[in-house]
Amino acid sequence: MKKCIVIGCGAAGMMAAIAAAKAGADVTVYEKNEKAGKKIYITGKGRCNVTNSCTDTDFFDNVVVNSKFLYSAFYSFDNNSVVDLIESNGCPLKTERGGRVFPMSDHSSDVIKALTESMKKLNVKVNYNCKIEDVICENGRVSGVKISNGKVMKCDSIIVATGGMSYSSTGSTGDGHEWLRKLGHTLNDCLPALVPLTPAEEWYKQLQGLALKNVKVSLYDEELYCKNGNNKKSLIYEGFGEMLFTHFGISGPLILSASSFYAKKHYGKECILKIDLKPALSFEQLDKRLLRDFEENQNKAFKNVLGGLVPSSMIPVVAMLCGIDEKKAVNSITKEERNALIDTLKGMVMHITGTRDFNEAIITRGGVSVKEVNPSTMESKLIKGLYIAGELLDVDALTGGFNLQIAWSTGHLAGENAAIDE
Ligand SMILES: Cc1cc2nc3c(=O)[nH]c(=O)nc-3n(C[C@H](O)[C@H](O)[C@H](O)COP(=O)(O)OP(=O)(O)OC[C@H]3O[C@@H](n4cnc5c(N)ncnc54)[C@H](O)[C@@H]3O)c2cc1C
Repeated sequence: MKKCIVIGCGAAGMMAAIAAAKAGADVTVYEKNEKAGKKIYITGKGRCNVTNSCTDTDFFDNVVVNSKFLYSAFYSFDNNSVVDLIESNGCPLKTERGGRVFPMSDHSSDVIKALTESMKKLNVKVNYNCKIEDVICENGRVSGVKISNGKVMKCDSIIVATGGMSYSSTGSTGDGHEWLRKLGHTLNDCLPALVPLTPAEEWYKQLQGLALKNVKVSLYDEELYCKNGNNKKSLIYEGFGEMLFTHFGISGPLILSASSFYAKKHYGKECILKIDLKPALSFEQLDKRLLRDFEENQNKAFKNVLGGLVPSSMIPVVAMLCGIDEKKAVNSITKEERNALIDTLKGMVMHITGTRDFNEAIITRGGVSVKEVNPSTMESKLIKGLYIAGELLDVDALTGGFNLQIAWSTGHLAGENAAIDE
């Protein structure tokens, strides 16, 4: 019986332990927290968006970095396999809008319970409050782990599933990154992703708490935008949906997605974000609509007519951006002023200077280079018997259950192979 050690009792670690035990290994998990799945607990606002019920093509389309690396992992343990495993361990699931899969109970704790239950049935030994200090290797292969109390535990294979660097209070503090770097692995820059963006403009503060629905957001590389204007070269991300103004910047589903593409190639660079408040109307259609509204309210002040087009808290900001006095009677607004108003409504500009930090990031962009990991087994190409799974790897996806699916799939593949390690 192969002796397999799993470091980290998060999503990837639990799935790896289950797969390794099913494949016949003697599995021991070490977790530095006092309980399993602290990060899973906070996922999906406490409801845990376990996976997505989409097709394989859609799954890979939602992976932003290194999707091809995930082919074997996903095809050997896909979204349906995860649903089967969790449901067969006492946690029925349901599918919501956009294919997002949640526990029927709406409690992430039930997902954790199902996974810990499965580990128990398979006789996986789990040690909580047990921090691993280092991974020990001899002659190019793993031989054991060193616990923080100084003890060394011997084994045949190790699965490192210590997670990324976001929300470090859940235990993901980058310990695994450090061991793997020392063992010769390349670490691609770790950056916060799926994270709120911070703009240079101050006016967003006036809109704190405002959520916008059905808007279009376009993010551009500022340098290329200034050189080439709005074209394919300068465009980093474009999407329709919901966004939110907060006390520190902008957030919401559209902005989180935009942040992933920002982190991919443009991190640290200034970018231009344009918000189209009326994506369903062309410039001309919007002009007609304005002319009609102005005609019907000829003697009213500009601010009192704008209410039909934008939320009331936005009126002072829109008026300031298009340079029209809020109190001006609409019958004295010129064609030029109307054009400036349409430009603002169809493209509110914000200069993005950065993102919020890891403590507000849903995931970590970067991590262990996938070039040094065998995609068919998740084994390190540098050290025999060393397997790597989950967010520690340089792979990540958009919101919708895709990041947990990466953890489940890579964890499962690592577990299956670590159990039969030669
Ligand atoms: C607020 C928030 C909401 C999210 N919502 C969703 C969602 O709804 N759907 C989705 O798909 N994804 C979501 N994610 C992302 C998802 O949670 C992660 O991608 C996923 O949990 C990564 O799994 P992992 O096993 O690689 O790492 P983790 O879940 O972080 O697990 C790593 C574990 O390793 C342990 N560990 C670390 N170092 C040591 C050590 N030295 N010794 C022992 N143990 C150690 C940690 O304590 C931790 O328990 C969310 C993330 C956040 C922060």
